[in-house]
Amino acid sequence: MPDVRIITDPTVYVLGRPSIDQRELTRLLTDTGFPLWSTNSPCDAQALVETGARLCYRSFRGGRPHGEHVRHLIEVGHGSCLEHAVWTLVVTGISRTCSHELVRHRFLSPSQESQRYVDAADVAFVLPPALVGAWDCWVNHTGRGLVVAASGDVDPRMEIGLWFDRYWYRPARAAVESYAELYGRLTADGMPRKAAREAARSVLPGCVETRIQLTGNARAWRAFIEQRATRHADAEIRRLAVAVHAKLEHEAPGLFSDYKRVPLPDGTDELATEYRKV
Ligand SMILES: Cc1cc2nc3c(=O)[nH]c(=O)nc-3n(C[C@H](O)[C@H](O)[C@H](O)COP(=O)(O)OP(=O)(O)OC[C@H]3O[C@@H](n4cnc5c(N)ncnc54)[C@H](O)[C@@H]3O)c2cc1C
Repeated sequence: MPDVRIITDPTVYVLGRPSIDQRELTRLLTDTGFPLWSTNSPCDAQALVETGARLCYRSFRGGRPHGEHVRHLIEVGHGSCLEHAVWTLVVTGISRTCSHELVRHRFLSPSQESQRYVDAADVAFVLPPALVGAWDCWVNHTGRGLVVAASGDVDPRMEIGLWFDRYWYRPARAAVESYAELYGRLTADGMPRKAAREAARSVLPGCVETRIQLTGNARAWRAFIEQRATRHADAEIRRLAVAVHAKLEHEAPGLFSDYKRVPLPDGTDELATEYRKV
């Protein structure tokens, strides 16, 4: 069987973002007696949050400037206004183990690649963050002749690399071999392909890559970030939550820049805010 590709980081794609119909906004403002109102919001996502909040109090005249207004909503926990801003992200390069945790967030609507329809013979493995060092030894220090010192001692980096090979890479790859064998035998015996994959996938390891599209509003994304971008979360989903936050902060700084990076002993970061669960 050929080598299985190993993925070390997730990729986050922003497929969908909020957009305001300016003509309809103008019509609304005219009809409600505020034709002169405008906002200096940097993006439509934040503008939608602002219009929702201003509608509550019919406050389309005077009041706080945009940035202050949105910050105030977060400070006082007027979180329902944040639900008007919705993003659709696609995440690739995460493991099935990670996606199992991800889909527990009930306000992030998922569509996930199916293991019943999509053949897993050419899957990739997602490396758990704790094994990055061992993987590096495996890639750079095994089987290249530089590893035995003059004293006859084995380079410890080679030992770690071989350990990684024996206890992580080979068992995972063997599972994919079993999958292919099971699938091949069952379909050769006349079983429909979907049914054969259904049975064969039961031996796949948790590290196989999956792809998932998620749609959620700013409040739901914040809840996800708060629970998963912390030291208490699994390291892989923490890495993902930090990557998701970076994308969303770029999209709408007013809704996500209250999170601060806090360095952790393992060299990664967690995110912390004083405004949890708005
Ligand atoms: C560090 C960590 C360890 C974990 N370990 C485990 C584990 O060992 N086993 C396990 O099964 N899970 C575990 N989880 C998952 C966890 O239990 C939640 O399922 C997951 O974090 C989603 O949280 P949530 O339900 O608050 O979020 P969401 O589903 O996103 O809901 C958001 C918020 O909406 C409200 N809400 C949603 N649904 C309801 C409801 N039905 N009734 C009332 N309020 C509701 C709550 O305020 C909730 O916080 C762990 C999570 C973390 C972060």
